[in-house]
Parts: sequence; C-alpha cells; structure tokens
Amino acid sequence: MQDSLWQAVLGEIELTVSRASFITWFKNTQMVRYKEGLLTVGVPNVFIKQQLESKYSQLVLDTLEKNGIKPDKVEYKIHAVQPPRRPVDEPVLVPSPGGATVNTAPRSARSNLTHSYRQGINERYTFDNFVVGSGNELAYAACQAIAQNPGSKYNPLFIYGGVGIGKTHLIQAVGNAILANNPATIIVYASTEQFVQEFVDSLRFKRTTDFAKHYRSADVLIVDDMQFIAGKEKVQEEFFHTFNALHQANRQIIISSDKPPREIPTLEERLRSRFTWGMSIDMQNPDFETRCAIIQTKASTQNIVLEPSVVEFLSNLVQTNIRELEGALNQLLAWCEMRGLEPTMEIASSLLGSSKTRPKHISAKQIIERTAKHFQIPMEDILGPKRDKDIVVPRQIAMYILRSELHLSFPKIARELGRKDHTTAIHSVEKIEKEAGFDADIRTAIAEIKDRLYA
Ligand code: ADP
Ligand code: MG
Repeated sequence: MQDSLWQAVLGEIELTVSRASFITWFKNTQMVRYKEGLLTVGVPNVFIKQQLESKYSQLVLDTLEKNGIKPDKVEYKIHAVQPPRRPVDEPVLVPSPGGATVNTAPRSARSNLTHSYRQGINERYTFDNFVVGSGNELAYAACQAIAQNPGSKYNPLFIYGGVGIGKTHLIQAVGNAILANNPATIIVYASTEQFVQEFVDSLRFKRTTDFAKHYRSADVLIVDDMQFIAGKEKVQEEFFHTFNALHQANRQIIISSDKPPREIPTLEERLRSRFTWGMSIDMQNPDFETRCAIIQTKASTQNIVLEPSVVEFLSNLVQTNIRELEGALNQLLAWCEMRGLEPTMEIASSLLGSSKTRPKHISAKQIIERTAKHFQIPMEDILGPKRDKDIVVPRQIAMYILRSELHLSFPKIARELGRKDHTTAIHSVEKIEKEAGFDADIRTAIAEIKDRLYA
C-alpha cells in the first residue's frame, strides 16, 4: 500500500525532474512509514538525504498532496545501504594462461584457441557499480538491452566519447552480465591495440588461421578503442572479415572509440559503413550531479560517507574525466586513512589544490567583470535586462562561475546579476554545466576566465 503510493509519487516526480536527477536522487528511495502525520522516506546515503531536504522537499510535498497525502512533516532517513563491494582499485583479471577472457570450457569444440589470443574482462566493471546519469544513459540502456538479448538488436553497437568517461567500463559490463546469465557464452574482449598486435604476431608466426578462428569463435566480440585501427590497412581488412563472419551469424559486436566512425582517419569506407549499420551512441561528459553520485558511490564501496561539501569540491575539481575523478578521491581517502583522519573539506582542498593555490578573496564583482571582459560586453549589459544571445550566455556563464567558485546561493547569484528570480540562476547554472559537457567553446571560456581571475 505504502509502496504503491510512493511509486505513484516517484512516477510523477520522474516526469518533472531531469532523468539524471531522478536516477541520482529519487530512484533508490522508498517510503518507510507514514504515521501520525510523519512520513518517513528511506534514502541510501546522507548526500541524497541532504539534496532531497534542501532542493526537493517542496516538490515531494506537492506531489504527495496531488496523490491525496498531506503529511505534517516528511523526514528523510538513511536506510538499507548497499552491502560493501570489493575495493574499487583491486583489479580482477580472470586468471588463466595468457589471461583468457572467455569461458570456453563447455564449448571448446567450437574454438580451437591458442592461449595467446585471449584476454581478460575485468570483473569489477559491472552494471551495478555504473552510475547512470545524463551523458551515459543512452549508452547504458543500449548495453543493457544487448546484455539481455545479445545479437538481436543494435548490432554492432558503436559507442564513442572522450577519455575516462566509462566506455570500457560499460562494454565490459555487458560481457560480465552476459556471462552471469549464461556462463557458456564465448565473450572475446580485446583492445584494438591488442587485436593489431596479435594479428601482426599471427602473420609473423604463421598462425593466421588460429587468429581468425579465435575471433570468429566469439558469441560476443567486444573491441575497445577502435580509433587505433586508423592507418592500418591489413588489420582493417582482417577486422572487416571478422566483422562479416560474426555479423552474418548474428553474433553480437560491440565497439568503442574516442571518435565516431566518420572521424577515424583512413578508416576504409566499407568498415566505416558497417560500423554504422547498428547503433552509434555518443557518450558525453558527466554532469555535476552524476559526478557527485559517482564519488558518493565509489566512497561508499569503501564504507565511507563523505560530507556533501567534499563531494561537491571533488566534482568541481575534475569535470570530465571520471578516471581522474576517481584518482582524486582515492588520493584523498588514502591520505586520510594513513593518518586516521576523516576526509574533511579542509584536507581535501589543501591536498588536492585548487583552493590551495587560489586565493580566496575573489569577489562576485570580479567574476562578473572578468566574464564581461572575456566576452567583450559592457558591464551594464551583463547586469541589465537585455536578452540577446551574446549577452545571455555570458550572463549564464558568470552565474555558473559564481556558483562553482564562490558557492553562492542561487538567490545571491541572482541578486549579483540584478535578477529578481532565483530560478533563473538555477536554470542558468544547470544549463552551463550541461553544455560544458559537450561544448568545448564553453569549457574553454570558463577555463580562461578562471585562469585570469586567479592569475
Ligand atoms: P574510458 O574507457 O571511456 O576511457 P573507463 O571505462 O576506463 O573510461 O572509465 C574510467 C574509470 O571511471 C573507470 O574506473 C570506471 O569504472 C569509472 N567510471 C566511468 N564512468 C563511470 C560511471 N558512470 N559510474 C561509475 N564509474 C565510472
Ligand atoms: Mg577505455
């Protein structure tokens, strides 16, 4: 009863907030109790608790009311935390001679492998520990669909995007999920560099048949970092044949790359066209909320709950590369662990810089002036009522920097820019955050303005 009510509330909230926000803040909540006017919502961690309290409490109340419930009070309680997982940085390669990926035992008749053609899928890359947010949700959904039904849809799946945003994690998660469903599946995972190296070796040692057989034995072939095939004609030809053989047999092919097929230089036309037969998905940089959720998830696998200010500090520190984000977090946690200290904001900022090297006395006015100067528009315009795009965007960027550098509240940001309504500030900051994910010009502008500010 309670649960279906809460599901109805969630259903409605899902329609009002962005998908990333929904997944990050609401998805794993539940209604624990509703008694004597007090409604208790269970949430996975303190970070989510604070966000819900500070940002979404009105929305929750309104939505409850629409569903016929008017509690005197809603409280958020930390509830049923996920069991701890393996520490994040412990690599788990499937042990076997040469590092075999593939669970070939039951079907070894079909593949006549020599061990040098195999390589490991890392067990730690799962769907469970992948945080879904704007930027990766489409890729995630496609990978899930494939894991449930390999070879039938989206074949090939071609995922592309920048460094450290989770491509390898996601495509290996498909392999792990398929193996969990059906351990007899032959998953062949290779980086393109490895494919190239093995191909060259097979020519040299006259084992081309073994090489071909190995790759063609795959039920699921996962090839990572396809951009490295650029300029390698022979390899491209070999891959073309492998691709055709597998595709005709309805075997699943998954490819990742740092750029879309059309931008991989010297990629043979016939390969290029095959890569676009199925589905191509652009993975984008994680937004602020997703970065926060990732940090929180990674910390909780080590049973650590970070203060929200530390989480926000880290996600502002590293904005695109999740590998670096993880690195910064691990550095902080390791430093604190060795000294038996709690990871506080002071430690984070003195250890990881930014505020360490940057003086604190930057004022809101300086930020706005600097931004106006950068875009060569007069101060009166940025503070005034004009709504031309050339002025609106710099204004939004100024708001974003006020938020990320000075952590001003939205009403304060709005006032600084002569706005009455603080929702404009919220909207602007979110918009710039999102756009900085895929728009290099915006990223560069922000970086340049900040550099000048602190110079
Ligand atoms: P890429 O292959 O795109 O360069 P990786 O898949 O190697 O990036 O990801 C870099 C690191 O970031 C990995 O440790 C991965 O587990 C982690 N990571 C990336 N995206 C996510 C995510 N959405 N949730 C959790 N961890 C992530
Ligand atoms: Mg990778």
